[in-house]
Amino acid sequence: MNAPAGQNPEVLSARADFPLLARPMHGRPLAFLDSAASAQKPHVVLDSLRDFYESEYANVHRGVYLLSAQATDRYEAARETVQRFLNASRSEEIVFTRGATEAINLVAESLGRSGRFEPGDEVVLTVLEHHSNIVPWQLMRDATGVRIRAAADAAGNVDVDAVFREVSDRTRLIAFSHVSNTTGTVLPAREICRRARERGILTLVDGCQAVPHAAVDVQDLACDFYTFSGHKLYGPSGIGALFGRHDLLASLPPWQGGGSMIEEVTFERTTYAPPPARYEAGTPNIAGAVGLAAAIDYVRGFGSEAIRRHEDAVLKYGVDRLDAVDEVRLIGTPAERAGSISFVVDGVHPHDVGTVLDTEGVAVRVGHHCAQPAMRHFGVPATIRASLGIYTHVADFDALADGLGKVRELFRL
Ligand code: PMP
Repeated sequence: MNAPAGQNPEVLSARADFPLLARPMHGRPLAFLDSAASAQKPHVVLDSLRDFYESEYANVHRGVYLLSAQATDRYEAARETVQRFLNASRSEEIVFTRGATEAINLVAESLGRSGRFEPGDEVVLTVLEHHSNIVPWQLMRDATGVRIRAAADAAGNVDVDAVFREVSDRTRLIAFSHVSNTTGTVLPAREICRRARERGILTLVDGCQAVPHAAVDVQDLACDFYTFSGHKLYGPSGIGALFGRHDLLASLPPWQGGGSMIEEVTFERTTYAPPPARYEAGTPNIAGAVGLAAAIDYVRGFGSEAIRRHEDAVLKYGVDRLDAVDEVRLIGTPAERAGSISFVVDGVHPHDVGTVLDTEGVAVRVGHHCAQPAMRHFGVPATIRASLGIYTHVADFDALADGLGKVRELFRL
């Protein structure tokens, strides 16, 4: 198949920045198609971690000595980098977390304790959600008596009307992924958030699978909360960020207690620090924040628009190559897709497909992708997912298509 137009030469050269991608796999070049699970790391991120630990590391917000002041500056500068990346209006709206999972648990816990939700109030999700945007709301439901509803349509799109069909006078919050980690469906986040705001409904957007592929502007989206994980954005694992509207963060109770999140502690009562410190109990992942900032600077060096156009071309090529393989059935045919393609091979279990592909040097994810309700919605127990990153070339999808040829041969399809 001819390589598609729209690829960007600068983005094409990004692959050389990722040392791990040069590692052969089972004697073959590695075709890494599992970036939606976690992305590989470029030299600049690895170097930033090493440099920080070698020359500036100390605990933050505590010491009067120079090193601690410098480490604090780096940590707070990283917060400003995230602020600019999401176009939040102030850095106090950015809370560092372990990742998106922790951020969603934070919001569910704090909202649950805030007294804003009453029994019978509703939280609307979509059937495409990752478990990390389902289970925290169920824990909140158990504590508050709220009801959970879920929206979807058959093709794996979730349009605004599908979401608002589930909305009632009791809906207090809509929580949804900006991009599905299973089907790659891009949700109309701006329309959903704006319509929700008009009705006084809070919104939380899980941006894990969106930020690596497109620019995000939380003010333009008009969301109340937005979250992502650093490790899917070429940054270290164990670090992520939550954007929260300042008046909300300033009025909600903390979710964890400990050092750094207080103003004054007595045995009778404790007063809490303003955000973001209120939500960052204990020593944070200081180097992780520095590494995340390096990853954001790296991505911004290419420009989100250039990345999006390039990846769209590679992704379209991948969809066409898969579509051309007999027995391959795409799961979800969203109108707009980013990052991921899910499919099954009729007659072969996804785990067997994944194992054969591995021997061919092709790394894909197989299973339910932490989205069991989505699997049930599509009527499959599991899928094979190919997902791409800034370093993915059409050759990776050629290797996938060749590997699927091997699967057909072995299973006599
Ligand atoms: N939401 C989505 C859409 C995801 O893809 C993931 C990770 N697979 C998560 C949330 C959870 O992210 P993490 O494990 O980094 O907290």
